Amino acid sequence: MVNLTKSLAFLLLLGSALSFAAAPADNLPLQNQLYSMSKLTIPERSQESFLTKVQSILRNELDPHSEALANVLAADYYIHTNEPLRAREHLNIAKPFVNTVDKPSLYQEYNYVLMLVLRTEGNLKEAKYTADALYRDVRESWPDNKLSDIVLERAYINSYLYRYQEAFELMELALSHAYESNDPFQLVETYNVFAILYGSLNDYPSSIDYLKKSIEIMEANPQYTQNTYLYVNLADSYRASEDFEQANTYLDKSFQIAKDTNDVSLKAYAHQVKGRLLVDQENYESALNHILTSQKLHKEVGEELFSFEIHTELTRIYLELAQLDKAKLHLSLAKEHAQQLGSQDTHYINRLESELFVEDGSFEQAYELLNESYTQYRKQFNDNLTYVSNLSREQLDQERLVFENKLLEQENKLNSQYVEESRKYSYLLWVLILLLLLVVAIALWIMLRYRNLAKANHQMAFTDNLTKMPNRRHVFRTLELQHKASGPGRKTYSVILFDIDFFKSINDRFGHNIGDRVIQSTRDICEAVLRETDTIGRIGGEEFLILLPDTELKAAYNIAERLREYFETYNFEDIAPGLTVTSSFGVTEYLPEDETLDLVVNRADRLLYKAKNEGRNQVMASFA
Ligand code: GH3
Ligand code: MG
Ligand code: MG
Repeated sequence: MVNLTKSLAFLLLLGSALSFAAAPADNLPLQNQLYSMSKLTIPERSQESFLTKVQSILRNELDPHSEALANVLAADYYIHTNEPLRAREHLNIAKPFVNTVDKPSLYQEYNYVLMLVLRTEGNLKEAKYTADALYRDVRESWPDNKLSDIVLERAYINSYLYRYQEAFELMELALSHAYESNDPFQLVETYNVFAILYGSLNDYPSSIDYLKKSIEIMEANPQYTQNTYLYVNLADSYRASEDFEQANTYLDKSFQIAKDTNDVSLKAYAHQVKGRLLVDQENYESALNHILTSQKLHKEVGEELFSFEIHTELTRIYLELAQLDKAKLHLSLAKEHAQQLGSQDTHYINRLESELFVEDGSFEQAYELLNESYTQYRKQFNDNLTYVSNLSREQLDQERLVFENKLLEQENKLNSQYVEESRKYSYLLWVLILLLLLVVAIALWIMLRYRNLAKANHQMAFTDNLTKMPNRRHVFRTLELQHKASGPGRKTYSVILFDIDFFKSINDRFGHNIGDRVIQSTRDICEAVLRETDTIGRIGGEEFLILLPDTELKAAYNIAERLREYFETYNFEDIAPGLTVTSSFGVTEYLPEDETLDLVVNRADRLLYKAKNEGRNQVMASFA
């Protein structure tokens, strides 16, 4: 075991010694040659012949330092010819060698290309960090053209991150380096970044001016500088200032150049701007095709910097095409990319999201987001006010107005939604009120009906059906009350009890119907004789009881006598020819010693019985 470990350690030692021996010794002339190649201008480093030279060097057995530097230069070539994927490959090869060699100058060359690749890959935070650090390291030692390049890169990244103050300060530095370098390429690039910066501040006329200047210098120095992106940038600035004709002219030119030079990246960008232009012209179907093509081409070359824009553009288009699911998908992708970019500005994302909420009918959320978006925009507007020309200010103000109108429009939409909703509720309320009224009406109706029914029931319970006179129950109840109210020193009352004579034979002779009519006529007879205060009731078949309040026996007797006469003389011929009717009466007055009502009624009954026995058709009255 011990032996084995020892022998392993030995083998490892041997291995590392061998590999050390295998690496070629530093080839200083070759390294110097590579370093001087790195100091060439960007147009020179973008030539095919530059790549050919680097490749021929790479084919040799190289020391690590040269190997690293040659790969960095290959990456340098590819990043400047818009092939970030290839650039990244060469950086990956160079990286371990850069670390082993550990030389500041080599690190610097490596970081210079890394900064450009990171930016193209959309990793702006790292790109910014790398660029800032690199500039601090090399500002005393590097030539002006490369310094200007780093500074421009920093300004460009800052403008992308909406850090305009920093960007403008760097642009001044970049401009001084560009003048110092006496390199037309640097001037062209500086003006280009100025244009981009003004464009992102919505000052499109300034942007167009800078681009025109830039193109002028480029076209005058074709051997030194070829930035074909300038035409697309110019097209985009014309588009933004709504000069669609000029925009299309420069786009056509760009498509032609992209085709001639087989520049996929340029083609991707031209398609993107064409898509934007079509969105502005509200031709969303065609816009979609161009943006999707652009996305595909950007991906092909590994360019991620534009992904945020692509996804916000796709969100806008799908929103317009009412494909909400797709719009939502691209909005969430745009959010992801914004985060990756480290962008501080999300006002456009919020605005898009707000519109999506509107489509979903979530007006409250839409309003909230729109407000948030407006606050962000307002802040950005104020923050940037210091760095822009009067023209830009006007432009920004214009944009602000459009924004405020949009907010107002949304507010109106929201309000009308509220109104509609409250109208709906008020309808509901009305329906409820009506229902309630209906229920109350039904309840009232039932109550009234019930009362009438109860009344009728009551009536029925106390009324005799045949004569409509008070019935036995009624007349005895009244009698009871009267009896209770009477007593020594109080009011008296009298009772008349009468019964129709030989009624059975009336029934027999004339029939029951006639009998009934005879009973009914009792009512007329009594009404003719009795007072309002008197109560008469039918207490049996043809037997009646009359209560006479405040009436003494004599007066009662007289009333009974009048009744008897009335019966005797009443014209029953109308009911049945030959019909005569008489009645017999018992009359008595209440006596203070009449403790119960029965005593009074029984007395009257006995007197009636007496009247019948004495031959009928007579009144019997007595106290005892
Ligand atoms: P009296 O003179 O003794 O009273 O002889 P009366 O025939 O009237 O005898 P009583 O009072 O005993 O008979 C009453 C009869 O009246 C018995 C019954 O058939 C008849 N009656 C009772 N109620 C009614 C009624 O509502 N209609 C008719 N048509 N007849 C009735
Ligand atoms: Mg009778
Ligand atoms: Mg009888």
